[in-house]
Amino acid sequence: MKLDVFELTTIFPNYKGAAEDKITLRSIMTDTRKKAKQSLFIPIIGQSFDAHAFIGEAIRQGATAALWQKDKELPSLVPTDFPVFFVEDTTKALQDLAHFYLRKINPIVVGVTGSNGKTTTKDMVAAVLNKKYRTHKTQGNFNNHIGLPLTVLSMDTKTEALVLEMGMDHAGEISVLSRLAEPGYAIITNIGESHIENLGSREAIAAAKLEITEGLDGSCIIDGDEPLLQKAKEKEYSISCGFGESCAYVAVVQQLTDEETVFKVNGELYKLPMAGRHNVKNASYVIALAQKLGLTKEQIQQGFLEIEVSGMRFEKHTGKEGALIINDAYNASPTSMKAVIEIIRHLTSKSKKVLVLGDMFELGEHSEQLHASVAEAINEDIDVIYTIGEHSRAISDAVKAKALGIETKHFTEKESLSHQIQSILTEETVVLIKASRGMKLEELLDELVN
Ligand code: ATP
Ligand code: MG
Repeated sequence: MKLDVFELTTIFPNYKGAAEDKITLRSIMTDTRKKAKQSLFIPIIGQSFDAHAFIGEAIRQGATAALWQKDKELPSLVPTDFPVFFVEDTTKALQDLAHFYLRKINPIVVGVTGSNGKTTTKDMVAAVLNKKYRTHKTQGNFNNHIGLPLTVLSMDTKTEALVLEMGMDHAGEISVLSRLAEPGYAIITNIGESHIENLGSREAIAAAKLEITEGLDGSCIIDGDEPLLQKAKEKEYSISCGFGESCAYVAVVQQLTDEETVFKVNGELYKLPMAGRHNVKNASYVIALAQKLGLTKEQIQQGFLEIEVSGMRFEKHTGKEGALIINDAYNASPTSMKAVIEIIRHLTSKSKKVLVLGDMFELGEHSEQLHASVAEAINEDIDVIYTIGEHSRAISDAVKAKALGIETKHFTEKESLSHQIQSILTEETVVLIKASRGMKLEELLDELVN
């Protein structure tokens, strides 16, 4: 980021101190535990902390100006010439500042939303666009009303393409992010069941994802196979991608292994160094976007080979006894759990397939039924299923009901689960670990990996 304090006076006219002097700001500080020279301190009021209390620390850590919520008293320790901008609400001001900076730098903006696959698709888009443009992207999962503006403000002034992950828990949130970022391109990866507790139905989830079109000035790339997006598919702004013939970009899988996928999109062959049919779909969105932006097939293919995916998504580890341990415990919803089970089913390098599945949160009143629906993805290819938690018992029960002869067991605590898994590890075993973030199932790795 590079902004002059003087520029801030145009958006935040109520200020005191040396705001008219030419002071350059290089970054935003929201966390005063980290040093940030020449930064603008933005005290956010969170659920447990009000960062206005840390203004002294902010100045010691390198802040050279600050925003300040006007109903808060400014402490006398703040030097009189220290520029302070008074605002109604510091979170809203952070968003306004990001909007201002974005318009100033004016890169191509790509917004990525959807129930599953946002981070993966965002990482794919960035790797591909980077072959043609100086590209900046959301780090990790910084995808909400605070993370997104901070991402915008962390881009450097030479950025030509900005790829933003847009996440949500409630209706109305994507609307705010889309209006802030005004994307030229939007991607809706899929409609699942995450956050159905807050939204009520899959229809309402689809409507919330479509809020991404509210700030859109350009094209929206959608999952053309999703029935709930069929109306959107007919809109002029839509570009549909999927396995169905009626999509504008039709993907056909040629080969799936646990290391890579080979597929065609509109007849052209691509290779992706990632497992999973769902990633073929994610890749088809990226191809549609990249073609719109004039990238060549070679640039797109090269970009795919350079993808850097954020952690805990199909992360492979060599476990004890030479077993393969796959940590996908970053998060889970019924759709993503089924998608990753499908990869394990098709995995050819190991013959004994073990699923360790934990609770999926925020599924509301349909929780039991949605857990049980995971059994749809399970067939005789799977040998062992261990579930853990309160809700995931519904998965083991539903699997047992299918009478496939799969060894199935439910656990209530990690220690006995860990012992049980260790007792069955061999060179031929693959163990998939998957649950919602709050289950912290990655803790199992300590005991399973050498
Ligand atoms: P979060 O809401 O936690 O930010 P996300 O949308 O960013 O999630 P990712 O972290 O990219 O999603 O992927 C999570 C999991 O979702 C993957 O490990 C995979 O199992 C599954 N997944 C990815 N893409 C798709 C897709 N297009 N459809 C269904 N499932 C998918
Ligand atoms: Mg994400």
